[in-house]
Amino acid sequence: MTRPRLPETSAAQQRARQAWNRGLTGTGRPARAKTAAIEECTVEVCGSPVTTGHPPAAGMVAVRGAAEGAAAHWYCPGRCAGIARARADLRSASSQAGGEQR
Ligand SMILES: [Zn+2]
Repeated sequence: MTRPRLPETSAAQQRARQAWNRGLTGTGRPARAKTAAIEECTVEVCGSPVTTGHPPAAGMVAVRGAAEGAAAHWYCPGRCAGIARARADLRSASSQAGGEQR
């Protein structure tokens, strides 16, 4: 996401900018490529809802849903399951008494 910016066009603004840049002029470095904090999983059945007792792929683990009565979902063992568990824990923690409400 790019922050909206007012154009810096006045001479004073440009002097200030140049001072900030220690005298450097020109265009800045390109913004870093947008990278996700958590890389997306490429396993297609990862995150699919649990409908039967059988995992859609070998080794997939079922992780409970966040809300009471929410459907469980299948995740890859390890990282994906860990992230899903943490997410469920965070959601349920915030909805319990004493949790923050926003
Ligand atoms: Zn996965």
